[in-house]
This record gives sequence, structure tokens and C-alpha cells, in this order.
Amino acid sequence: MREFAYERATDAGGAVAAVLADPDAVFLGAGTNLVDHLKLGIIAPGKLVDVSGLPLDQVTQLPDGGVRIGSAVRNADLAAHPAIRARYPMLSAALLAGASAQLRNLATTGGNLLQRTRCPYFQDSTVPCNKREPGSGCSAIGGFDRDHAILGASDRCIATHPSDMAVAMTGLDAVVRVLSAVGERQIPLVDFYRLPGDTPDRDTVLDHGDLITAVDLPALEWASTSTYRKVRDRASFAFALVSVAAAVDIADGVVRDARIAFGGVAAKPWRAFAAEAHLRGRAATEENFAAAADTELADARPRRQNGFKIPLARNVLVATLRELSEAR
Ligand SMILES: Cc1cc2nc3c(=O)[nH]c(=O)nc-3n(C[C@H](O)[C@H](O)[C@H](O)COP(=O)(O)OP(=O)(O)OC[C@H]3O[C@@H](n4cnc5c(N)ncnc54)[C@H](O)[C@@H]3O)c2cc1C
Ligand code: SF4
Repeated sequence: MREFAYERATDAGGAVAAVLADPDAVFLGAGTNLVDHLKLGIIAPGKLVDVSGLPLDQVTQLPDGGVRIGSAVRNADLAAHPAIRARYPMLSAALLAGASAQLRNLATTGGNLLQRTRCPYFQDSTVPCNKREPGSGCSAIGGFDRDHAILGASDRCIATHPSDMAVAMTGLDAVVRVLSAVGERQIPLVDFYRLPGDTPDRDTVLDHGDLITAVDLPALEWASTSTYRKVRDRASFAFALVSVAAAVDIADGVVRDARIAFGGVAAKPWRAFAAEAHLRGRAATEENFAAAADTELADARPRRQNGFKIPLARNVLVATLRELSEAR
């Protein structure tokens, strides 16, 4: 491993300045993903600027009824927060479906959003991978592709995004607050991640030195009827094959509104806008749930080994919506 400098940031502006001053510097959250990458030789930064101790570790109520989550809030604290559990249960459930208790105690909100793909070839620095080394090729195409994307992939990369938390936040219309040298900007999470296209090495729209300071959740009264369902190879400590975060507003047996996002199917959490539009104004029936899933998955393109993800995603969405409609 290459030697690196370590600096503990004490304020957000100082952290941004420290990373901007050095093209080889990166932010360090709890290190549960980044340190693995150091050890595997996937990255070799010259400097780590630790932002896990910044005073950004609070969950606060916003005047408009929304909630602000500081980027240093630990995953376990966020999952257990009373406002999150009561008002956004799909987010609490998604967090609890991820990693292990020990990891959740450490992992930060900012770091969780920016964790990188679990494609096995990305994590093996001896084989070609366009995401790790642009232009080197994609070992998953024609290789082991069982865990890979069915939506939004390109001929350069077919990886999926691993975060459970980000799927729930995408469904909740979360907005990421980012600090850079020119001030703070807000990026809707649906626009934050990039599909691979010709540049799969860029996971997000962030630039060098952009610090995530917080994530805002808008007020959504009916998100109290929401949940997260994750299908994986083991009951715990495994990434999603397919997951669904969903909230529904049902009155008199009719879906007034819905928020749906899939995990495990694309390079980003996949907001199911087409399924939501299909459901609005329709009866909350199994038939309509299945039709909504089919609408969303119409463009799904399976690889050699992951065709099972299409019926799996359909079934998981239908089961999730059934559960929520019965909970009303
Ligand atoms: C064995 C194992 C199993 C796991 N299982 C799951 C799972 O099932 N589901 C799941 O969702 N996750 C899972 N994870 C991943 C885990 O959730 C992430 O490792 C964790 O959330 C990353 O948070 P961190 O604070 O440790 O980030 P770090 O590892 O410190 O950083 C990750 C990235 O974020 C950047 N970064 C950190 N903070 C900021 C900031 N404020 N602004 C800008 N950039 C920043 C870093 O530079 C780095 O690029 C698992 C991890 C392990 C090791
Ligand atoms: S799918 Fe993406 S991350 Fe995996 S080997 Fe191909 S380029 Fe790399």
C-alpha cells in the first residue's frame, strides 16, 4: 500500500480546502469501504481528509416539515432515529437491511451514498475494469454477470449500485447538499448518480473537493406507510439481488400516489417513475401492481446469468405493494 498523509478536519470549509489543495487527496468517512479499497490496491490516494468527526452528525427538523440528515450521522443512529422510524420507515428498514450491526455503527451517511460497486472484477485489480481503469475493458461482459444490471447498463459497464440506504432516499425524493469552493449547492438524489455510458469511472455528478454535508428529506405525510424489501443470497450480510423501497397513498381502494425505487438492478438506485405513473388513480389491486411493474421493467435487458432478476423485481414490487395496501 502506498504511504499517505492523514488529516482530521474540524470544519467543513477546511475539509473542502484541504482536498481541493491536493489532487491526490480524498475525503474519509468511517473508512468501511475506502480502507478496503486501499488494501485491495483499487485506489492509492496521497492524503485522507477525515470528515467523520465534523459537526454534521445531527438529524434535524426543517421548517417546511422535512428532515435534514447530517453527512456524519452513522447508519445505526439514522435507522434508530424516532422521526425516521415513524415518518420514513422505508429508510429505517433499508438501513437495517444493509451490512452488519458493527458496520452500521460506524458507516456515515455521506460515505454510504458514495460507496462503490461490489462488482467482483472492480475489486480485483489484476483484471480489466473500465470503472477502475478507464479503457481497460469490462470483465463482467461475457464473464460472471449474475449480480449485474438489467436496466441502464452500457457496453462499457454493467455494474450495480450497492447501497440500500440510497434506494430508500431516492424513493423519498431526497436532496443532497454539497459544499465546494464556490459555496453550497443542492442536488436531487435522482440526478446525483450517473448511468455508466462511456464514462463508467464517474459514479456521480460530484467533482474533486465536493463535500456532502447533508441529505434533506422532504415532508411526505403518507411516507409513514412505506417499507423496504430486499432479496439476497443470504439472510444477512449480503448485498441486494433486487430490492424495492415503496410508499403508497391509498384511499377508498384507489392509489392516490406512490413512490417506488429499485435496488440491485442498475448502476444507480432506480426510481420507478413509470410504475408510479401507472398506479396513480388506479385500484390498489394485484393486477394493477403487476402491470405497473411490467411497465417499469419493459426496457430491462438481461445478461447471460441474470435473467431471473426481471421476474424477481416484478414479484418483489407486487409483494411490497400488496403488503402496504393491506397495512392501510
Ligand atoms: C462486509 C460488508 C458488507 C456490506 N453490506 C452492505 C449492504 O448490504 N448494504 C449496503 O448498503 N452497504 C453495505 N456495505 C457497505 C457499507 O454500507 C459502506 O461501506 C458504508 O456505508 C460506507 O460508509 P463510510 O462512512 O465507511 O464511507 P468511507 O468508506 O469512509 O467512504 C466511502 C466513499 O465516500 C467518500 N466520502 C465519505 N464521506 C464523504 C462526504 N461527506 N463527502 C464526500 N465524500 C465522502 C469517500 O471519499 C469514499 O470515496 C457493506 C460493507 C462491508 C464491508
Ligand atoms: S461491470 Fe463495470 S465495474 Fe464490473 S468489470 Fe465491468 S466495468 Fe468494471
